[in-house]
Amino acid sequence: MKNLLLGQLGEDDFNRLEPYLKVTPFKQHSLLFEAEREIKHVYFPTSAVVSLVVTLESGEMVEAAMVGADGVVGASAALDGRISLSRGIIQLPGDIVVCSIDGLKSVALQSPNLLSLLIRHEQTVYAQAQQSAACFASHHVQARLCRWLLRARDLARTDTLVFTQEYLAEMLGVQRTSVTVVAHTLQSAGLIKYARGKIQILDAEALQDGACECYGTVKRHYERLLGPAR
Ligand SMILES: [Zn+2]
Repeated sequence: MKNLLLGQLGEDDFNRLEPYLKVTPFKQHSLLFEAEREIKHVYFPTSAVVSLVVTLESGEMVEAAMVGADGVVGASAALDGRISLSRGIIQLPGDIVVCSIDGLKSVALQSPNLLSLLIRHEQTVYAQAQQSAACFASHHVQARLCRWLLRARDLARTDTLVFTQEYLAEMLGVQRTSVTVVAHTLQSAGLIKYARGKIQILDAEALQDGACECYGTVKRHYERLLGPAR
């Protein structure tokens, strides 16, 4: 299984869950669910990357967490919340294993292992959200962009990322001009190549040196709670 959580299930749990699972392709920027609305499905990305964003009355949205093949989106709804705390959008296109809420809930209630896995994963999303709050308040936009690109690269498993500068600015909650300046600096230093909405990561190691501590902190939380990513 390309999804880390589904891959960690025992054979019995997976067999019980399988009838509720359906692989579905998703396009970039499509909406999975809206904040404060009922969630109808749970999403286990295999190649797509999902952003959980906080929306403001002004229409702005800022990213709180990014979930890909290392996680699940909407599981808290299956664990009883039902109403989403954030908006879920497809950040990078690809496949997602979609599961019905009732299916996941019925299997999880019979399986302490699956329940524990889902709860541990919710903690990783919470860890990302609290790190994003600290990051936004204390870290420079250049370090934050490096962090963001590294996380997107880990989840997309590719050095070529398709993002416009407007989108990056929106996710980071900064002015587009700030992203332009920072992207230019990173490009001049040979870390990335940026052209026509496409970012090529040329030197991931240097990008890691330039990223704030939040990249490593979130990664450690994931490894502690869910085991190393494969
Ligand atoms: Zn940070």
